[in-house]
Amino acid sequence: MASFLNDINGRYASEERTILNLCLKNPGYSLADLAKELDTSIPKISRIVGELVDMGYLADLGKQESTTGRRPSIYGLNPEAGYFVGIDVRQDGLSIAVTDFPGRIVLFEHDVPFRLQNNEESVSKMCAAVKDRLRKADIDIGKVRSYGVNLTGRVNHETGYSYSYFISEEKPIRNLLEEYFGKAVSVENDSHGMAYGEYMSGIADGASNILFLNVGWGLGMGMVLDGQLFYGKSGFSGEVGHFPLLNNQQICRCGKIGCLETGASGLALHRLVKERIGNGQPSLLTDKHKAGEDISLDDILNAIQDEDVTAIECIEEVGTTLGRAVAGLINIFNPDSVIIGGRLSVAERYLMPPLKIAVNKYSLNLVNNDTVIKASRLGKAAGAIGASLLAKSRMLNN
Ligand SMILES: [Zn+2]
Repeated sequence: MASFLNDINGRYASEERTILNLCLKNPGYSLADLAKELDTSIPKISRIVGELVDMGYLADLGKQESTTGRRPSIYGLNPEAGYFVGIDVRQDGLSIAVTDFPGRIVLFEHDVPFRLQNNEESVSKMCAAVKDRLRKADIDIGKVRSYGVNLTGRVNHETGYSYSYFISEEKPIRNLLEEYFGKAVSVENDSHGMAYGEYMSGIADGASNILFLNVGWGLGMGMVLDGQLFYGKSGFSGEVGHFPLLNNQQICRCGKIGCLETGASGLALHRLVKERIGNGQPSLLTDKHKAGEDISLDDILNAIQDEDVTAIECIEEVGTTLGRAVAGLINIFNPDSVIIGGRLSVAERYLMPPLKIAVNKYSLNLVNNDTVIKASRLGKAAGAIGASLLAKSRMLNN
């Protein structure tokens, strides 16, 4: 089998790409369906599909159910054609997803131990941890076609440079990762990868314009517009967390004051809960605070699951602030769906109602009526699954 589609020097490279991209979105086609999609003859499609079968990309999936006449064979992506590994890199761990060529999830592992540091040793440890997990899960590493890696912060997926972690002027992080993995690698901003995963999971019911808000420790956004990830000029689009919306005198991680993230993110929730407990408001976390122990975001999210009223009031405040920003985004983009994902979406029961009230209050009714607001479908798996599916899409469209 050819390593990559662009190894094909054949006459039909663009048709082959079109067919494989069609099969990414639908499980199977008859030769007649493909001839119609490509507006060409069945004999020509038959030759092209035959080449793709010979190269191992497509497989004959069997006969189609039919009530009349001969049942045609259905062709789709070959499940045996290899794997795509997606890695979502966080400060304190990795998530790894493996999908096969038709996009089925073969493996998902969350919370693989790892500590993100800004040096090459950290890159090497990350790659070793991934390979170790793949081996333990009996994934044949030789059959991995490519890897997708999500990093937080500014990432240019075209040049392969990251500007927030693993920064190097010598060569892009993508090239370094390719040396360690020995395969093609695509790098992506984490919120973009998550947005793509949710979009491909079908959360938007076939609609093609979605905004995905990654409400984690910080706040990011991925946009799928007209069915394509929207990057902007350098890949840095979606930095909604640093939208200067708030008049709260809070200094943001970026050094500026009043960024949306200072009121609508995990770090905002963390600050609000600590302030309230510090002011004597009762909470399940009070004892930990009094003992001088660190209260983590996970502690707060667990307290919310345990119905801690102080923590719930704080996430409601975050929901209201976020909803006001979502109202603005809906007015600008007129999207089909706004998806709320990231770590805070586990508390969707308390986050979503105030968010939706704020959207109703602050957005233009006519525009807002078009938009469905939903919590994430893939949850903590969105990033890694999105990264693996993007790796596949990049390979096919390289
Ligand atoms: Zn900021």
